[in-house]
Amino acid sequence: MSSTTNAGPVEKLASTFSGELIRPVDGGYEPARRVWNAAIDKRPLLIARPRGSADVLAAVRYAADQGLPVAVRCGGHSVAGTSVCDDGMLVDLSLMKEVQVDAAARTARAAGGVTWGEYDRATEPFGLASPGGRVTTTGIGGFTLGGGYGWLSPKHGLACDNLVSAEVVTADGRLLTANDRENSDLFWGLHGGGGNFGVVTSFEFRLHPVGPSITGGMLLHPLEQAAEVLRGYREYVDGGPDELSTAFALFPAPPEPFVPAELHGRTVLGMIVCHCGDPEEGARVVAPLRRLGPPAADLVGPMPYTTLQALLDPTAPPGWRWYNSGDHLAELTDEAIDVLVQHAPSGLAPLTQIIVFRHGGAVGRVPETGTAVGNRAAPYLLHPLAAWLSADDDDRHMAWLRDVVDAMKPYSTGGVYLNFAPDDDAIVPGGYSREQYARLRALKDVYEASNMFRFNHNIRPAT
Ligand SMILES: Cc1cc2nc3c(=O)[nH]c(=O)nc-3n(C[C@H](O)[C@H](O)[C@H](O)COP(=O)(O)OP(=O)(O)OC[C@H]3O[C@@H](n4cnc5c(N)ncnc54)[C@H](O)[C@@H]3O)c2cc1C
Repeated sequence: MSSTTNAGPVEKLASTFSGELIRPVDGGYEPARRVWNAAIDKRPLLIARPRGSADVLAAVRYAADQGLPVAVRCGGHSVAGTSVCDDGMLVDLSLMKEVQVDAAARTARAAGGVTWGEYDRATEPFGLASPGGRVTTTGIGGFTLGGGYGWLSPKHGLACDNLVSAEVVTADGRLLTANDRENSDLFWGLHGGGGNFGVVTSFEFRLHPVGPSITGGMLLHPLEQAAEVLRGYREYVDGGPDELSTAFALFPAPPEPFVPAELHGRTVLGMIVCHCGDPEEGARVVAPLRRLGPPAADLVGPMPYTTLQALLDPTAPPGWRWYNSGDHLAELTDEAIDVLVQHAPSGLAPLTQIIVFRHGGAVGRVPETGTAVGNRAAPYLLHPLAAWLSADDDDRHMAWLRDVVDAMKPYSTGGVYLNFAPDDDAIVPGGYSREQYARLRALKDVYEASNMFRFNHNIRPAT
């Protein structure tokens, strides 16, 4: 490691850093700057891959000395591309992978670079789990700091609701513990305020008994049945128990053996269900959903919780160009259902889809002042997702997605879920109530007035 680059004299950092430092001239820079969304093309001046909190402290102090803004990466899944930057330093936590489970206390402490697949693998042998991402390669970091909706959320709350404590490196180069007793104002901000307040080097989560077997899977219907099936679905899930977590998607059916041949390549309705309680009770609770239609394919049954957690992995490969949004829906009216079905993707690249998640239960029971997560009362979250391979197709796919969002505006609360939002500062206040947003800005003044951590859904300091 030699020479002064426009990231400053890197030797100074290298002498105290046990992880990897990667400059634009170094081999490995090209793959290291890439994130999951292939449409993102940014070039940090320096990539620091710490091995632990001491390295993170060294990197942040170095960035402060050099006046460099800092991007932070855990799983790299931000579709908005906030976990990489131009003209700044990237702190990539992907070497920090430790997960320690305290089964007796029902807590797990995970380092800042762990993904949900890694976390679930560590807790599953104890029959325990925390609400986490529905694709295994999603990082615990960005997911939790932005709220974090998982299959277990109607029963056990958001990922951030299960955060017991966190270790945070702040812009002024301190390592702080944040929990209900210490730095509780900062702890509040970590529940929805994203990566705005520092680098979280470890997350301690509450665990819950789950499985090992739960009831889960997907029901497939031809598009022609979708509107009627969704009306029946809505009536049933609106009064459903907290153990029942569902979503539905409109997407082109893949030519897979589990899809009836006549549906291959046709747009279908897929209804995903998870009942996280006793499997016998689960079978009873999901039975009415299985009778709707009836489905062309019924792939629901008992399965390990971690199998359900990986169910959507094939729909989320790296290397594709992605664009998405997350808009909370006030209700799912008949008219909203019809508009959704009319806008189902057709003639677009095969992974392009509209997903609608059903929330409620424990998510809505947390008072709005309790965390920095807005829009908790909204029962549904609209999540259109476009994915394609060639830059030539950017405009077509992005235009389709904006059409879906515009058409669904009349049914939206006006609030957004920032973890699904594009990289647009104007959207940020929509993730919060007015009071939450004001409190987050005041907190930014206290912990991060320099706005060193600005590559995120940015909370501007108030002063
Ligand atoms: C395939 C896929 C599936 C998804 N499924 C869900 C889902 O089921 N439910 C849901 O709620 N969301 C889901 N999301 C959205 C997801 O919550 C966000 O993309 C989230 O940012 C991913 O976390 P990450 O750590 O991988 O992100 P990264 O891209 O690594 O980071 C995103 C931002 O988070 C911040 N950050 C990350 N880690 C840290 C840290 N340790 N300390 C400080 N700041 C940090 C940084 O500001 C960074 O810019 C999904 C996204 C994808 C692409």
